[in-house]
Amino acid sequence: MANTVPDISLNDGNTIPQLGFGVFQIEPEDTAEAVGRALEVGYRHIDTAEMYGNEAEVGEAIRSAGLDRAEVFVTSKLNNGFHRPDDARKAFESTLAALRTDYIDLFLIHWPLPTRYDGDFVSTWKALEEFQRDGRARSIGVSNFQVPHLARLAAEADVVPAVNQVEAHPYLANEEVRAYDREHNIVTEAWSPIAQGKVLDDPTIVDIAEQVGRTPAQVTLRWHVQRGDIVFPKSTTPKRIEENFRIFDFTLDDAAMDRISSLDRGEAGRRGPNPDVFDYVPG
Ligand code: NDP
Repeated sequence: MANTVPDISLNDGNTIPQLGFGVFQIEPEDTAEAVGRALEVGYRHIDTAEMYGNEAEVGEAIRSAGLDRAEVFVTSKLNNGFHRPDDARKAFESTLAALRTDYIDLFLIHWPLPTRYDGDFVSTWKALEEFQRDGRARSIGVSNFQVPHLARLAAEADVVPAVNQVEAHPYLANEEVRAYDREHNIVTEAWSPIAQGKVLDDPTIVDIAEQVGRTPAQVTLRWHVQRGDIVFPKSTTPKRIEENFRIFDFTLDDAAMDRISSLDRGEAGRRGPNPDVFDYVPG
């Protein structure tokens, strides 16, 4: 079984590699090396954000890998604090300038911030619709949007987000949001797919890993891709960057999938902030 990363079709006709490389919490000075390693291994999808402070280094790594811009799918995200349309336009230009590119494959609203801006994320979304219309964002989507946030966009905006990037892993299956996404042709992207390492010593996951002769990280990432979600694990460890890439040359049977799904702890399993109340804006 060849280890080939599948492309997932988005509702706007574009495609995205189902596996990418995440760069949250990678220091700017370490980013070019980590991304360079990931590109060498075969990753062709990088997930960054203005908030991570390493867009410039991501762009630099892609250029120094000698790859054509078109060969790598790049996602970035609008930082909190830039939700007013004029601020969003400036922030988007800064993202393109930092990456030194004239288009981005996917641009997301990072957080809905429903308790700020009088609860208005719709005008922010309409700014992203502009970026897509003028061709500088090939696809647009959201991140950390809960069902009522998505329903509001459906009622008040024109474009359905291509993706919704939310926290998801065996301890937080996030089924309600995933079901809404599925019904509305929005692809779910699972952030912190291995719960920042916290699921890797779970006895069920360790047991399945032993049965299939893979590592707990590979088994967990495989569970995500068999659910149909997109993942982009982060690592600065070369061996792990390779390990996380080798998840398309084995499968989990239904019994193993069900055992992992049964680890869901609902809200108690959430590791990151709750999007309904998260209101952090950089100072
Ligand atoms: P992950 O679930 O990807 O876990 C990363 C952690 O796990 C690191 O500490 C890493 O250590 C360790 N690790 C990675 N691979 C292995 C392995 N094979 N075996 C053992 N340990 C391993 O967490 P992230 O929070 O980074 O999520 C991934 C990506 O999701 C982010 O980089 C970002 O792109 C995105 N994200 C988006 C958010 C949003 O709000 N939209 C929020 C959070 C993340 P080490 O590096 O030392 O190897």
